[in-house]
Amino acid sequence: RQSAIAAALGFNQSAPPIEFMTKTPETVFGENTFSKSVMKKRLPKAIYKSLMQTIEAGEKLDPTVADVVASAMKDWAIEKGATHYTHVFYPLTGGTAEKHDSFMAPTGDGGTLAEFSGKELCQGEPDGSSFPTGGIRQTHEARGYTIWDVTSPSYILENPNGTTLCIPTAFVSWTGEALDKKTPVLRSMKALDAQAHRITKLFGHDTKAFVASTAGPEQEYFLVDKNFYYARPDLLTAGRTLFGAAAPKGQEFDDHYFGAIPDRVLSFMFEVERELFRLGVPIKTRHNEVAPGQYEVAPIFETANVATDHQQLIMLVLKKVAKKYGMECLTHEKPFAGLNGSGKHVNWSLGSSELGNLLDPGDTPHENAQFLVFCAAVIRAVYKHQGLLRAVVASAGNDHRLGANEAPPAILSVFLGSQLADVFEQIKTGGASSSMPRGTLEVGVDTLPPLAKDAGDRNRTSPFAFTGNRFEFRAVGSNFSIAGPLVAMNTIVAESLDYCATKLEAAVAGDASKLHGSVQKLLTEIINECGSIIFNGNGYSEEWHAEAATRGLLNNKTTPEALPALMAPEVKELFSKYQVLSERELESRYETYVEQYCMTVRVEANLTKKIARTMIFPAAIRYQRELAATCTNLQALGYEFDTKTLDKVTGLVKELQDSITDLAEASADGCEEMVKCCEVVLPAMLRVREASDKLEAIVADDLWPLPTYQEMLFIK
Ligand code: ADP
Ligand code: MG
Repeated sequence: RQSAIAAALGFNQSAPPIEFMTKTPETVFGENTFSKSVMKKRLPKAIYKSLMQTIEAGEKLDPTVADVVASAMKDWAIEKGATHYTHVFYPLTGGTAEKHDSFMAPTGDGGTLAEFSGKELCQGEPDGSSFPTGGIRQTHEARGYTIWDVTSPSYILENPNGTTLCIPTAFVSWTGEALDKKTPVLRSMKALDAQAHRITKLFGHDTKAFVASTAGPEQEYFLVDKNFYYARPDLLTAGRTLFGAAAPKGQEFDDHYFGAIPDRVLSFMFEVERELFRLGVPIKTRHNEVAPGQYEVAPIFETANVATDHQQLIMLVLKKVAKKYGMECLTHEKPFAGLNGSGKHVNWSLGSSELGNLLDPGDTPHENAQFLVFCAAVIRAVYKHQGLLRAVVASAGNDHRLGANEAPPAILSVFLGSQLADVFEQIKTGGASSSMPRGTLEVGVDTLPPLAKDAGDRNRTSPFAFTGNRFEFRAVGSNFSIAGPLVAMNTIVAESLDYCATKLEAAVAGDASKLHGSVQKLLTEIINECGSIIFNGNGYSEEWHAEAATRGLLNNKTTPEALPALMAPEVKELFSKYQVLSERELESRYETYVEQYCMTVRVEANLTKKIARTMIFPAAIRYQRELAATCTNLQALGYEFDTKTLDKVTGLVKELQDSITDLAEASADGCEEMVKCCEVVLPAMLRVREASDKLEAIVADDLWPLPTYQEMLFIK
């Protein structure tokens, strides 16, 4: 530990500085992506046009196009130094997977030629059984395919020794089931598009443009010096500290949030942003977060599918670049007990190139009416599917965060802001009220005053907040792929829009003059049925928990309570109805997430035992021996020695030993059951930690083996 401190203090930047004067951000943006503008330059006009039809209007890919695109893509990649290509895919682990193939093929005369066919671009065949499939694929039926996702740009990943062409793909089994996170995102976008069009059509916008869901994810993370990271088996293997007493100073001074960014960290951020820029990821925001050592990065929003792929790249680049600056980037939801954890706020909306953002209140009453239908559909969706939304953010890591007084509670609710809440409050009673400051709500929507963009205050405690022109889902964990939450949001809102469209179509029955009356009636119905999900107060408070219970809202505090919602009949029906996930695909996800939860707890239990036995216990008894020796020696010389400290250490050593024994017993069966993991194993781990953390406060500093919170959080 002492040498880790010395090494951290002696950090010397070795990463070569960025040429920021000669290569400005505009010139590097997208230089490593096979972007639309590159395609436009390199593809024959007809091919480019056909491809754009697929990318922008969701039309079927013309197979003859693929060969031409492949060849252009290969030439472009080779000019960028690429020797290999890989179909990148997104397995259910939430990570990113890739299998690399060389472009080179032997020519038969002893030479080689770079080749890349349309078929190779469109389809790959990795082993489908080596990733979690929740029973869909067995080892003996391994066939899986990766299929080119035309809508997400391919890119070049650089390494000092070569570069690779990366092609985002969907990953499906030989039997056609989705084995990945991307496929359902694409399917759910299609479902949302179809239903959104029915609504806009009712309002007279009969357009063809694809209505896409959009996402802008804010990523929180911690940075620690790599010397501490490697001296911490828990951080290295579990991504979070399983031991560690609170630092004398934590985040209570609120002096880190938005504070000046330390130089080394700023250098790191500049490089992260530059790398992401080169990959076409539109990074926008950076700042310090609440906890010491915690930061945030956020891009400008993109369509859900591209945003999801880019989010994975953001995590990858954060981790990669951190190493260059002698640091590790932690994306675990709760790396340090007692300090704020990290989340990923997923800003979500929907819109099209022709209609713009459909959750923008707009300036005219007409737009407002359509906006209110979309907004009410979201409220209804969250109310109807609280369980599902909670389930898609459930993980062992996020359990440490949701519900602690720093992150949204495990109870789903919708924050609307005062103006919008007031509008819906009036709609509840039929919209006849006349007391709105700017006009009345008679036939509600028709005469509704224009809503200001910032129609309300900000509320940091709400898990699902309306923030002016989008909703922000804040319960997502920092280590998550945003795919799951987006699939859930797209699908539940598609269902709600379907419900609204069906009602309105029937009520209007071709007579447009009936639209506003029907909208008013529908909004009133929805708000009366689902309005209990709206909450504008403090989500951290005790009172809210009590009130939410009386409102009958779900409060699934832990993963074992939350995940079973995935298997609820209405959720199965929802996903099959909109062809997002078949029953079997949904089950496979449930099984995978249960397994991941149990595996995480098992690994943490093993680590806790190992660290406690081989690092903490030895340090404790060494100190105990020193104290005992001092005591014996002094007594032999006739001195008195107060044995208070020795008594305390002895008591804690026993507490540590006993708790290790209990944990060994609790985890003896290998941690296979979710509920037992949660209710027995985790508390047993915590008792080992408690004993250890008390020892940390008393054992001689030079004997303590693990880098302390103070060192990890404040040496930068
Ligand atoms: P804050 O910290 O104030 O919540 P940030 O600026 O850090 O906000 O992040 C807001 C995110 O919301 C950005 O990624 C932004 O691009 C995104 N966003 C804005 N408009 C939309 C939209 N229509 N759909 C999805 N995301 C959006
Ligand atoms: Mg935010």
